[in-house]
Amino acid sequence: MVPSRRLLLKHLAFRASTIAPASGLVSTPPDGTVEVGWPEVESRARRLATGFLARGLRVGERIGPLAFNDHRHADAYFAVPCLGATLHPINVRWNPQETIAVLEHTRDRILLVDAGLMSRGLELAAACPWIEIIVRLGPRLEDEPRNPRPNDLEIVDHETLIEDSTPIACWPDLEEDSMMGMCSTSGTTGIPKTVGYSHRTTCLQTMALGLTDCMRLSGRDTVLAIVPMFHALGWCFPYACGMLGAGLVLPHRDLGPERILDLVVTHEVTTSVAVPTVWNAVLSALDANPGRWNLDRVDRIVSGGAAPTEGMIRRFRDEHGVEVIHSWGMTEINPVGTMSPAATTREEVEFDSERRLRHQIVAGRPLPGLAVEIEDEDGGTPPHDGIATGRLLVSGWWVADRYAFDHPDGERFRPDGRLDTGDVASIDDRGRMAIRDRAKDMIKSGGEWISSLALERAIGDFPEIAGCAVVGRPDDRWGERPVVFANLEPGADLDLETVRERLAREFESWQRPDELLIVDSIPLTSTGKIDKKALRAGLRG
Ligand code: AMP
Repeated sequence: MVPSRRLLLKHLAFRASTIAPASGLVSTPPDGTVEVGWPEVESRARRLATGFLARGLRVGERIGPLAFNDHRHADAYFAVPCLGATLHPINVRWNPQETIAVLEHTRDRILLVDAGLMSRGLELAAACPWIEIIVRLGPRLEDEPRNPRPNDLEIVDHETLIEDSTPIACWPDLEEDSMMGMCSTSGTTGIPKTVGYSHRTTCLQTMALGLTDCMRLSGRDTVLAIVPMFHALGWCFPYACGMLGAGLVLPHRDLGPERILDLVVTHEVTTSVAVPTVWNAVLSALDANPGRWNLDRVDRIVSGGAAPTEGMIRRFRDEHGVEVIHSWGMTEINPVGTMSPAATTREEVEFDSERRLRHQIVAGRPLPGLAVEIEDEDGGTPPHDGIATGRLLVSGWWVADRYAFDHPDGERFRPDGRLDTGDVASIDDRGRMAIRDRAKDMIKSGGEWISSLALERAIGDFPEIAGCAVVGRPDDRWGERPVVFANLEPGADLDLETVRERLAREFESWQRPDELLIVDSIPLTSTGKIDKKALRAGLRG
């Protein structure tokens, strides 16, 4: 296939089948682990494409996988966009109402449903008459419910679709701005917002993952894809691995820390990406089982989607020899915005390890093609001194300019191309950005702002803490006051006085929490972030 000048996924995602035919995917669905070499990934995608065409697939139509990370989901990742349709991975952790709300907009005619999620898929089909075909990913399970619309809903097995189809001879030529994918986020806020990704933005984002100052992904890597493929297109990892010829391990449903560590060791994983809650759980599993897993092959991991603590980054470095690259991003930006490796410039290579660690704790520099700015309440620019804060704006190559469907938050896309991220940040004189909080999670006490994130980071490093979250409780006198929700390590004990005392070095008395609530677990959103909406609702209740 001779590439045109256009940035199209078909020119990039199949590169591995010619340069690294011996590597490919390792997929671990419940019906058995399979290895699929990159040439086979391409031929499966070509067959699946013909199968879709035979079922009337049209350019621009959306196809929705309701699936975990496995090779069958990956087949669709390659086939659907290269055919000119739009891949619309659906968050499997949403409740039916949330999913139906999204489907009412996207109107997917074909759903690709993991065999273990067929009851959910059939429930959706019962509620959404526009769903005409369900492709079952994996062998039919015995307890699969009956088809609620046997006369007009076709259920077909994914493997049958592939086996019965001949490979498509060539992929169509598309416009680079056509929509290759679509993902929805409920963010940490509420009603889902859907963002469209074009071939152009996805190609650029995918290329950037290989930059040395980003996460230096290369054909020598084996990546464990923990970040779900329904979250911001799985950070484009399937495409980046297909482009570079890296190995890609797809863990399917079980993302428990012990399983993650088993996969890392068995498949000689060199790098991976996940939210900090996952990495903290991995550290706890390593503590509880000294010597069980050897992380020698792991070079670096990326922690993104929420703020890591300094202790987490330090412990991976000192106890396991693993560099944590901190990343900030959002669904609206395809999704990676910044990366913060331990050292990027010549000057930084000379820094001692403690000074490097201070770089890793901040979100880092924007990737090439992006710019970050901060803005104060009057529209002015606070100094770039690493201290002054402002609303974070981002603009550039893969920043969306609208939601795919109307949403009240659509105003955050400014006409000049800048996106108001809803985050509060500082920027230093070397262009390093640090997230200070979500604007709406900042706590306003007596007219002054308290960063819930700064408190969470400090408290999160206490040895007694398994997880913690800080939110504001409405207060008649001060407006709001900080409350800590803490989930303790087994057998640990902690009281408010101790918390306040330990925070005294970093925080003024008025900034320290007034309340400590010990809970069994911290509620998380469907993407593994702290669900502050649920916590605030609990406080009101
Ligand atoms: P989502 O679109 O669901 O990935 O959510 C994006 C939001 O997650 C951002 O606007 C931030 O509020 C938060 N976020 C992402 N990365 C980080 C990070 N490294 N530190 C703190 N918050 C983050």
